[in-house]
Amino acid sequence: MTCKKTYRYICENLDANLNSPTCIEIKKHLDHCPNCTAYLETLKKTVLLYKNQKSPKLGKSARKNLVLSLNLEIPSKSLKKSNISSL
Ligand SMILES: [Zn+2]
Repeated sequence: MTCKKTYRYICENLDANLNSPTCIEIKKHLDHCPNCTAYLETLKKTVLLYKNQKSPKLGKSARKNLVLSLNLEIPSKSLKKSNISSL
């Protein structure tokens, strides 16, 4: 198994079964390849950071306040663009 293949399989199988033949092959490769070991450590840290990251969700009032504070206009539903263009 080459480093390039190892990289790909690590990415695809990071959350997969660690006892699968592919993972065992990767482990064998990692035992004697410092390049891949370093890569795997970096990848693990990245994944951990990604998993811990919670995407911010704004409530309706919070969103309204944000829009108002930024002096943005909220698109009005009463404005019918289709009617205007048809005139
Ligand atoms: Zn390698």
